[in-house]
Amino acid sequence: MRFFTFLPGAESSVGVLSGPDRFVRLPFASLLELIAAGDAGLQAAREALERGPRMSLAGLRLAAPIPEPRRNIFCLGWNYSEHSKEASAARGRLEPPKLPTRPIFFTKATTTVLAPDAAIPAHLGATAQLDWEVELGVVIGKGGADISQERAMEHVFGYTIINDVSARDVQTGHGGQFFKGKSLDGTCPMGPWLVTADEVPDPHALRLTCKVNGVIKQDGRTSDMIFDIPSTLEWLSQGMTLVPGDIIATGTPAGVGFARVPPEFLHPGDVVECAVEGLGILRNPVA
Ligand code: MG
Repeated sequence: MRFFTFLPGAESSVGVLSGPDRFVRLPFASLLELIAAGDAGLQAAREALERGPRMSLAGLRLAAPIPEPRRNIFCLGWNYSEHSKEASAARGRLEPPKLPTRPIFFTKATTTVLAPDAAIPAHLGATAQLDWEVELGVVIGKGGADISQERAMEHVFGYTIINDVSARDVQTGHGGQFFKGKSLDGTCPMGPWLVTADEVPDPHALRLTCKVNGVIKQDGRTSDMIFDIPSTLEWLSQGMTLVPGDIIATGTPAGVGFARVPPEFLHPGDVVECAVEGLGILRNPVA
């Protein structure tokens, strides 16, 4: 099933696609509520899909599938080897990079989440180096700590597309941290759909691309992740509880702006389109 959140007015509502341009409204206040209901949530969605009235998607304004996460979005740094190499070279390191032997984790503030088609703020006062990063987003269904690789996929509710928009000068200008440079408002476009895990038989065999103004900048495959989803969930949940609705951005392939020669960054008026095979297209202009 393909779930989404939409904005009929002041408060958001949730729906499930019933065809290319039709949907059925679901009896939940949010996708977080549906996810937290576990199997009963999925069953209620299936029943609504069978019996509910079909409505038109035309004119509907989408929100991010999870517009207000319960806590920060977990992210992986340097999780594709070619991106690890390009980032290292761009930062002037002469020796080849040592690929991480454990995942590099950081987070993005909940206030970064942005709807499909909404404008990414240019933040001209805060950064001159706004950059793009297409990523496969994993949403946790069943929570837990000390999750083993063998059982990790049982904890995955579904997948979405994330653009981990990054302010490079803010990232490098504060002692090499990730958080501030990754957490400017509106720098986590997400969506358009939250696709249930059963519709993505192999999440490690997906092409992911990022276009800026129609030109392909990133073109990778999730099979090139250094830490795959089970391994990531095992590391992340060691001694730390994951909760239903947690979102994990699994890292970006090569082709980001700051590592290009010469470097390229986003400017007001640019349009960024992130696509992950089978998950749709996430399009956002820069304000
Ligand atoms: Mg990233």
